[in-house]
Amino acid sequence: MEYRRLGKTSEKISTIGMGTWRIGSYHSQEEKAEQIRAIRRGIDLGINLIDTAEMYGDGRSERLIAEAISGSRDSVFIATKVWPDHLRHDDVIAACDQSLQRLGVRSVDLYQVHWPNPSVPMRETMSAMEELVRAGKTRYVGVSNFSTLQVEEAREALSRSELVSNQVEYSVANRSAEKDVLPYCKKEGLTLIAYSPLARGAIPESLIPAPLRQRYGMTPVQIMLNWVTRDDAVVAIPKAARLSHVEENAASVSVRFSRSDYDLV
Ligand code: NAP
Repeated sequence: MEYRRLGKTSEKISTIGMGTWRIGSYHSQEEKAEQIRAIRRGIDLGINLIDTAEMYGDGRSERLIAEAISGSRDSVFIATKVWPDHLRHDDVIAACDQSLQRLGVRSVDLYQVHWPNPSVPMRETMSAMEELVRAGKTRYVGVSNFSTLQVEEAREALSRSELVSNQVEYSVANRSAEKDVLPYCKKEGLTLIAYSPLARGAIPESLIPAPLRQRYGMTPVQIMLNWVTRDDAVVAIPKAARLSHVEENAASVSVRFSRSDYDLV
């Protein structure tokens, strides 16, 4: 597995992480066991970044992660998120406490604002985030779905902590982050956490150049993940509930393409 610095910190997170939207919701005990096996296999393969949110399955994603990581808390970097309805000071603190309880941990590694909420002053939310850092409940602060302007506002509102990441949609099928968000992250030393990097499973094979498949012996999915993380500022969090998918995804960054091959996409 390849690892990257989180923002300007010395923390190493895996270039390929694991997203967990819809994980924790299952129709049978077998399906649940497969989800747990998939996460554990990812950890065995060196994936340390696990992304979740209080909103995913109304807490079920966090609860399943608690089961999957029991005994290996120290090998994982847990990123969770607070929902935009909970951005008032006391609500942020309460939401974090509830996430910690569901995850069965004393602290998370990254606490992210899931979506901006213009009706709550940024300063109020960020002061609560800093309080969580001081209390040892999160190690780092991040945001998600923020414009560069909103990221600037969040950074200005923080007095003691650095904002380390912005999680946004980014894939071969949706390159809008390349306009502002990615250049800003590169310039300012923030990590762009790419969500829906597999276009939510609707793999757009027509967008994957055939020469890349042949030259690197990779599947379309692996090319998508390798390409989206071609820049050091980016890590990706594909969601995979199946063991074989996790294995395929983890192997996607074993080699790097040449610059001109990346430009073919
Ligand atoms: P995604 O990762 O682009 O796609 C997930 C789909 O791809 C699933 O159906 C999965 O199937 C399939 N898949 C995974 N690996 C595969 C492989 N090797 N071959 C074929 N299919 C494969 O979509 P996403 O869940 O929207 O995004 C990933 C994560 O980003 C989420 O889980 C969540 O953590 C995060 N996210 C964040 C936000 C936000 O607002 N911050 C929004 C959306 C998502 P199986 O599950 O059957 O393996």
